Amino acid sequence: AIVATHVSKQFGDTVVLRDINMEVERGKVSCLIGPSGSGKSTLLRCIAFLEQATSGTILVEGQPLGFVGDGKDRRRQSPAELRKVRSKIGMVFQQFNLWPHMTALGNVSAALRRVRGMSRSEAEDRAMRQLDHVGLKERAGHYPSQLSGGQQQRVAIARALALDPTIMLFDEPTSALDPELTGEVLSVMRELAAEGMTMVVVTHEIGFAASVGHKVAFLDGGKLLFHDTPEAVFQKPREPRLEQFLDTYL
Ligand code: ATP
Ligand code: MG
Repeated sequence: AIVATHVSKQFGDTVVLRDINMEVERGKVSCLIGPSGSGKSTLLRCIAFLEQATSGTILVEGQPLGFVGDGKDRRRQSPAELRKVRSKIGMVFQQFNLWPHMTALGNVSAALRRVRGMSRSEAEDRAMRQLDHVGLKERAGHYPSQLSGGQQQRVAIARALALDPTIMLFDEPTSALDPELTGEVLSVMRELAAEGMTMVVVTHEIGFAASVGHKVAFLDGGKLLFHDTPEAVFQKPREPRLEQFLDTYL
């Protein structure tokens, strides 16, 4: 589970997230929608601790992220504590960020060897299982340049899954893909959701949000306006800002 309480984020004088309260239960999927610049990536990056919230707390599987304690007892987590919490989280970005000089298998197994200290054969075994999971066992020996965008993104998903996270964060995973390639990535994500992975997905794929999201969150100007079931969020009449957003994206 992820529990964000009173999370705010500023860059200098710019307030990007305003008092976000959001809970994603274990095994549930929340899809995060909202206009460009509304703070979706920033919220995801705060949950992944790629950014530090300016104030507020985030609990990941019941463990505090970044800081422990409250008030004057608040202190920064030790690197070991932080690593432990962060190891629960896998993240997938719009750009796949694969190593061009490594095969799919190399990309997925590298972190297992480096971060987890696995032997080559152990890492490659595990990487192969994850490539199979995303339907790419046959492409294990291919380099990124020999794979389609959809296949590259599935390798990136396999790479994140190989580290055995209990939570997966996706930031517009299909936005860089040609339309005909989005389906294969969305269906891998749909399967993950069906397997009970806890997920937060920033997406403009409203159909995916409505059908796979247990909840849909709508961010506007750094404020979380809704975090509710798709039925509740999308039913008419809709809040004007959401209506305006949907008009632009549907
Ligand atoms: P998009 O749909 O375009 O990806 P978004 O909802 O993901 O938008 P964010 O990337 O979270 O929006 O950005 C929210 C606001 O924070 C924007 O105004 C952006 O310019 C600002 N911002 C993001 N990162 C930084 C940074 N490192 N320094 C300063 N401002 C930033
Ligand atoms: Mg973004």
